[in-house]
Amino acid sequence: MSGNEMKYIRDAFDSNWIAPLGPNVDAFEREIANYVGVNEAVAVSSGTAAIHLALSLLEIKKGDKVFCSTLTFVASANPILYQGAEPVFIDSEPDTWNMSPQALERALQESAIHGNLPKAVIVVNLYGQSAKMDEIVPLCNQFDVPIIEDAAESLGSSYKGKASGTFGKFGVYSFNGNKIITTSSGGMLVSDDQELLKKARFLATQAKDPAPHYQHSTVGYNYRMSNVLAGIGRAQLEVLGERVKARRLIFERYKQELDSIPGIKFMPELNNSQSNRWLTAITIDEKIVGFSNHSLLNSLADENIEARPVWKPLHMQPLFEGTKFYLHIEDMNISEHLFHNGLCLPSGSNLKEFDQMRIIKCVKDFLSIKV
Ligand SMILES: *Cc1c(COP(=O)(O)O)cnc(C)c1O
Repeated sequence: MSGNEMKYIRDAFDSNWIAPLGPNVDAFEREIANYVGVNEAVAVSSGTAAIHLALSLLEIKKGDKVFCSTLTFVASANPILYQGAEPVFIDSEPDTWNMSPQALERALQESAIHGNLPKAVIVVNLYGQSAKMDEIVPLCNQFDVPIIEDAAESLGSSYKGKASGTFGKFGVYSFNGNKIITTSSGGMLVSDDQELLKKARFLATQAKDPAPHYQHSTVGYNYRMSNVLAGIGRAQLEVLGERVKARRLIFERYKQELDSIPGIKFMPELNNSQSNRWLTAITIDEKIVGFSNHSLLNSLADENIEARPVWKPLHMQPLFEGTKFYLHIEDMNISEHLFHNGLCLPSGSNLKEFDQMRIIKCVKDFLSIKV
């Protein structure tokens, strides 16, 4: 927490707005919309709920196909299953680790030939790094398929001067406890289409028809954000810039100390884009370095240092067994390569330089033991 949260929480208590609506919710929505530069934002109970609402608003249903980045957290794709629709996974490319425009193009062309284009493409911005939007957006426009941008990990990042999360029909942010700013749990759905966001509010509050009695014609959800939590979000947004700076500095320090080690590579950053560096992610080439990502993870764990594997691609998950998957290039499975070699280093905004240097030393020590 940054320190200002209690002020907004107290406002909620003083005004007795302890509900999934109220002045903090309204203000937080406006502040996020202004910050990223969209017409409107709807505060919801989680990033997952925001993705689910976006799919509902696009009227995605059983039998429909939805394309989704494969290298991501399961929450990107679970809402496809909530709708009874069929996910199709798209590989990563090496420059951003995000959705491969080549794989996407092949997948779209093949679907067009068979007359079953997807109803949406969910593009994920991994660990704060934006996908190649100047290739992905025109492709989706060409086939008239709307984009849902899963920017759960990339609030505060930008691509060619435009805020991450504002490239699709819908953008999604998460304020889960692990994200760069948090409301403990929460999310935001953003769009320039205010008509659709009006409907999002309707669906997110149980889809009550405009009638004096309780009347319902469509399925609704209880997805709005609490006014207490929105108060936390307002104070967190005030320090987002500092958080991005802190995370980028952490990345730079790791890079400075470890980049010269042959076989260790850092997640790249595109020219003209700025990642919030939510997590510092590296790959370790076992053939060159002499140890695997898993052995490094375990040795750090022995020192009470918590590193994490890179997300396991969704096309490899038992949940999605048998799901269609498009490779970056034939014989080149980028997401599986990143999964088998990748590692996320401790990257919390409050990580002290002293602690980070201890982590770096442990990595170096481990290396010299093995070499
Ligand atoms: C965290 C996350 C989500 C889900 O957000 P919640 O607020 O936890 O529901 C979705 N997609 C990605 C890529 C995430 O990292």
